[in-house]
Amino acid sequence: MLPGPQKAIYCPYCEQVLSYQTLSSGNTFGATRWSDGKQVAPMMPLPPDIAKCAHCAQCFWLETAEACHDCEPTSHWTGPLIRKGIPVPLVSVPTEQDYYDAFCADFFEDKDQEIRARVLAWWRCNDPQRLPNPPPFDWKARKTELWRDNLLSLEYLLDEQTDEHYLMKAEIFRHQGYYDSAESCLRAVKTPELQGIVKQMKQWCAEGNTRVMPLL
Ligand SMILES: [Zn+2]
Repeated sequence: MLPGPQKAIYCPYCEQVLSYQTLSSGNTFGATRWSDGKQVAPMMPLPPDIAKCAHCAQCFWLETAEACHDCEPTSHWTGPLIRKGIPVPLVSVPTEQDYYDAFCADFFEDKDQEIRARVLAWWRCNDPQRLPNPPPFDWKARKTELWRDNLLSLEYLLDEQTDEHYLMKAEIFRHQGYYDSAESCLRAVKTPELQGIVKQMKQWCAEGNTRVMPLL
């Protein structure tokens, strides 16, 4: 894995300068695929799709931010940036609550972008369970109104009769404990290569398991 140079952008809200780390080359060695569709690849650290500003704490789509060209690396070419003698802070990944705070009609350009954003919020909620020593799992504490609203919106948006949408909906239903609805979506998945995942998910439904799980 080789990091690329940091790049500088203007926050679209406060117009202050921020940076993000790029990747020169990466690979999926040691990557884990999770039941909610997220792949965690330590050797492929990509910039976040949605970034949080270190100055004003607003969230925005990184690809829409305007580039800033008058920054320099402090030492090595992949190192932190400096502008007019002042270090440029890195963007951060939004918290689950940050995503919910940012979500409004203007935040999504189209349906695909809304699905992407809502899936990112859902993944962020599941992230603590991906740690090597995850905190005790408390389903009831996780079931907040905003969490539920987000999953309801995803259920509504994932309306295509594709295996990808069926699998993701099945997982969203399973996370909420709606095992019959989850199994109904799983039965609609026809691709032979996905039947291993379908079998695992059916097993978790049968066990009453609502946690995000690593795929074998
Ligand atoms: Zn800002």
